[in-house]
Amino acid sequence: MHGDRFAVAGPSRLVVVPPTGLPAPADAGPAPQPRPDAADEPSDVVRDAPPAQEPPSWLFLGTHDGAAYVVLALPPTADALAVLDGVERLAGHAAQGADGWLGLRGLEGLDELQQGLATEAVALVNWHAVHRHCPRCGAPTQVRRAGWVRWCPVEERELYPRTDPAVIMAVVDDADRILLGHAAHWPPGRYSTLAGFVEPGESLEQAVRREVAEEVRVTVADGPGDVVYRGSQAWPFPASLMVGFRARVAGRAGDVAPDGVEVTAARWFTRAELLAAVEAGDVLLPGRVSIARALIEEWYGEELPSTW
Ligand SMILES: [Zn+2]
Repeated sequence: MHGDRFAVAGPSRLVVVPPTGLPAPADAGPAPQPRPDAADEPSDVVRDAPPAQEPPSWLFLGTHDGAAYVVLALPPTADALAVLDGVERLAGHAAQGADGWLGLRGLEGLDELQQGLATEAVALVNWHAVHRHCPRCGAPTQVRRAGWVRWCPVEERELYPRTDPAVIMAVVDDADRILLGHAAHWPPGRYSTLAGFVEPGESLEQAVRREVAEEVRVTVADGPGDVVYRGSQAWPFPASLMVGFRARVAGRAGDVAPDGVEVTAARWFTRAELLAAVEAGDVLLPGRVSIARALIEEWYGEELPSTW
């Protein structure tokens, strides 16, 4: 990775190279050397890397089918072309060329393994980027445990990667309509499910009800089964976990009142209305890999057409 982008061979393949004679790209600095006595800690490859080598960082992602995967995270300040040249030389060994850099959002059609590696790498790299100092005492922190811990040497305590939960919900009423909103920063016509961060001291169900009330002035029912978990999606921008729900509004819901700040438009759709709006190009739905799309299509009952 270079900053928050991956070396790729087209939009559907990360460049994954074997470590054979791994000559680190020119800007990457030497590969970290484990201590001679660290043979029993094969994953702990960065423990003794001196501070001058950070960044770049070598971060352990996990193992699959007997292979260990590590991401080389280069700082945004590294020379991207020089780095890519180094990656291409490496990629040559694996008979797959590197032809550019893409962010996670630009990568489509990755297989399940690469999708998992990419999402995990982005989340880890984002965490390292903003935890270079201890949040309690301000001391510079060090990478430990192959990238899964940062260490405060002053307080001698470990800091762990964090995940920020957010809720995302398909709101439906008893007339079986779905509520979709348009956020202020979206392109014209984009409609999707409502979403928002969980606040301190709040349950997921409370977060669902509060966000819907705040964003569109609609009251979600609070009986058992009125807010139901449907699935989740890691969303490392920078560190979210999207927790998806179906939320019920009692009766046939009345008007919605978008807050005008986060949500500038919102409306109820029947299935026929949504299909017609999508086919006419009046409504652009979120992309197929998003949990928002999955929640909408679960309500709809089948896949909806894409209009771009
Ligand atoms: Zn500290």
